[in-house]
Amino acid sequence: MAYDFDLYVIGAGSGGVRAARFAAGFGAKVAVAESRYLGGTCVNVGCVPKKLLVYGAHFAEDFEQASGFGWSLDEAQFDWATLIANKDREINRLNGIYRNLLVNSGVTLHEGHAKIVDPHQVEINGERFTARNILIATGGWPQIPEIPGHEHAISSNQAFFLKELPKRVLVVGGGYIAVEFAGIFHGLGAETTLLYRGELFLRGFDGSVRKHLQEELTKRGMDLQFNADIERIDKQADGSLKVTLKDGRQLEADCVFYATGRRPMLDNLGLENTGVKLDKKGFVEVDELYQTAEPSILALGDVIGRVQLTPVALAEGMAVARRLFKPEQYRPVDYKMIPTAVFSLPNIGTVGLTEEEAREAGRDVQIFESRFRPMKLTLTECQERTLMKLVVDAKTDKVLGCHMVGPDAGEIVQGLAIALKAGATKRDFDETIGVHPTAAEEFVTMRTPVAG
Ligand code: FAD
Ligand code: NDP
Repeated sequence: MAYDFDLYVIGAGSGGVRAARFAAGFGAKVAVAESRYLGGTCVNVGCVPKKLLVYGAHFAEDFEQASGFGWSLDEAQFDWATLIANKDREINRLNGIYRNLLVNSGVTLHEGHAKIVDPHQVEINGERFTARNILIATGGWPQIPEIPGHEHAISSNQAFFLKELPKRVLVVGGGYIAVEFAGIFHGLGAETTLLYRGELFLRGFDGSVRKHLQEELTKRGMDLQFNADIERIDKQADGSLKVTLKDGRQLEADCVFYATGRRPMLDNLGLENTGVKLDKKGFVEVDELYQTAEPSILALGDVIGRVQLTPVALAEGMAVARRLFKPEQYRPVDYKMIPTAVFSLPNIGTVGLTEEEAREAGRDVQIFESRFRPMKLTLTECQERTLMKLVVDAKTDKVLGCHMVGPDAGEIVQGLAIALKAGATKRDFDETIGVHPTAAEEFVTMRTPVAG
């Protein structure tokens, strides 16, 4: 049977755009449907605007520290509306770039909500199109628990478009988004409380990293409340929010921001018209080739719930395009040693195993740790300290994990990830000449293990 398209991609986010462009480049006839915004979550309500707001928040400490270097400033003023307007302009520019990328690579762009009507057919804006393969790349959506008054809370989707900076913000959650946004609000001057239900935030990260960030945020005056969860939120006559915790305590805030994870975006997608199956957590189930239970339908990115990061969605998009249209170039995505950064203030950068993971796996490990005051701060009052940590296999000398909390940790860890992926040993680190004077050189000068 002749199909309208070889591949119909639903979702023009990180993974969908990558798969569509490369598939078209390999000679396939490709369409992509997008219901909301070109570039998806990352470009519109994720990585990019988040990083711009983090840069914005960082200026507060830059201004403070400048006086140590002889600079004097009148009292710095911050205007939220300017930051948001400039951010919106940049995102509009990126939306245009994404449009050009797609069109110039020969992909047909359909703007509207796409629904799968049968395993080879998609309906959009009242029209139907057939395709040999359909790719579900519809991403995720913030998930807010349905406690009484949850309608008064916002998620990251709204945070990027607030009309003004709230005076008092309560951030709920202990993952990437909670920690990053707490840093943004706090840095920009809001009275910020981070509320997390467990003992210590950032579950899954290295224990030293979690503890170090806790100390640093506390030093900066952020109110961290662990073992705390919200029972209900009530709007008061003056518009402020009264938050009642499960332990009976009450807090007041002008904004309650939930960052409690993301669900797959499957709304009105028409999966009931297919044999696609979901996993226990509700994400689309795929095999190692991104094939769903329906032979003509594939899925990737956040909607499959493996690793919810843009570079992973991009790698999966590339793998799908190659697998379908350039099989001789197909290489599976390697999910080991994925470096990642949390753009908290200070940043976290990490790659490889945490100390806890290495020990749980029964490895005999040596731990190297360094804590120091960054050189830039020595002329300032700021007491922030940087943490660097290496987890080394005592038997093979292989470096199993690198972890950092400090300025530019995300930038530094990218290069270390290449070394770890190439199987670098601690000896390779020791024999690498440092770049002086930098913070990063500390990663090649740690000599004495702090724990074995
Ligand atoms: P998405 O980028 O979400 O794209 C899915 C697209 O599908 C969307 O545009 C959506 O509108 C569209 N769509 C959905 N349903 C339909 C339909 N039925 N018809 C048509 N279109 C549809 N990752 C990082 O690596 N680094 C970061 O710093 C980072 N920061 C983040 C900050 C925040 C606040 C958030 C929320 C996420 C962040 N992420 C970050 C994660 C990253 O954004 C995602 O992992 C990535 O965007 C996933 O790409 P995707 O292609 O799977 O989905
Ligand atoms: P995460 O999964 O990272 O964290 C969710 C947090 O919410 C956890 O601390 C979790 O607690 C808590 N939580 C979950 N359910 C509830 C509940 N019902 N009540 C109270 N707390 C709850 O999700 P995020 O929303 O922060 O981010 C989604 C994903 O987006 C991230 O996992 C990451 O992959 C990606 N992302 C990446 C970024 C980056 O690369 N810099 C930045 C932002 C997002 P517990 O630990 O106890 O389960």
